[in-house]
Amino acid sequence: MTEVAFVNNEFVSTQQAKVSVFDRGFLFADGVYEVTSVLDGKLVDNSGHMARLNRSLSELNMPWPLSPEEIVELQRQLVSRNHVHEGTVYLQITRGSAPRDFAYPKKPEPTLVMFSSSRPLVENPAAITGITVITTPDIRWARRDIKTVGLLAASMAKQSALDQGADDAWFEEDGVITEGTSNNAFIVDAQGNIITRQVGHKILAGITRSSVMALCQSEQYHLVERPFTVAEAHEASEAFVTSASTFVLPVVSIDGHRIGN
Ligand code: PMP
Repeated sequence: MTEVAFVNNEFVSTQQAKVSVFDRGFLFADGVYEVTSVLDGKLVDNSGHMARLNRSLSELNMPWPLSPEEIVELQRQLVSRNHVHEGTVYLQITRGSAPRDFAYPKKPEPTLVMFSSSRPLVENPAAITGITVITTPDIRWARRDIKTVGLLAASMAKQSALDQGADDAWFEEDGVITEGTSNNAFIVDAQGNIITRQVGHKILAGITRSSVMALCQSEQYHLVERPFTVAEAHEASEAFVTSASTFVLPVVSIDGHRIGN
């Protein structure tokens, strides 16, 4: 079966999907994205992803290429055309193609790209074994709340973690953890408090983070939104990460400190 992607206002086979070399997403990382998981052919938490997309676009003064409703309809069509039962839908909007100039184009024509991936999400071996993380300095830019495609620092941190035999990295800044390379970080202290950093410019407001926090509240766990130190992380009785494509994964080791049992 030929997989299709959506690009330049049409569905085309992924082999034929092409973007201009002048696209500002390519030249300046001038683009934003969202990843929505698909379970039983349905988009999970998609209203949250669309709300965050709206915020990312408005923070960058970037126009919507189509209305949010039209985009959701295209996401559904992509899921259906690619027969995605379980997997993800990736969606990216850039300020479009224009002669290379640091200033924004006067009349931007945004590029919308979408593709999907079919893969098991629930049956994730890492949900059983847990993952190991190392901490690494947060060298990313100062507006991590905007979900831009400028992911090089995160990519470098992830690769460095893998090269050191760990599964992922947690970013550290001023002695406290900001978040994971592509997930939000949580610890549980000895008193059973679930601690995660509050949202702001320093981290991405994860959609799964919000869903898990709502669940914590309805299950009457004590949740605290504050920065936690690297030392607190090392001594945590439990730790976990959240993201759209992995939901919740246990963290079993931080910088070689074994977490829990
Ligand atoms: N933080 C960062 C830096 C991320 O890249 C992601 C994944 N996009 C998250 C947190 C988790 O966000 P979400 O739950 O919306 O996938």
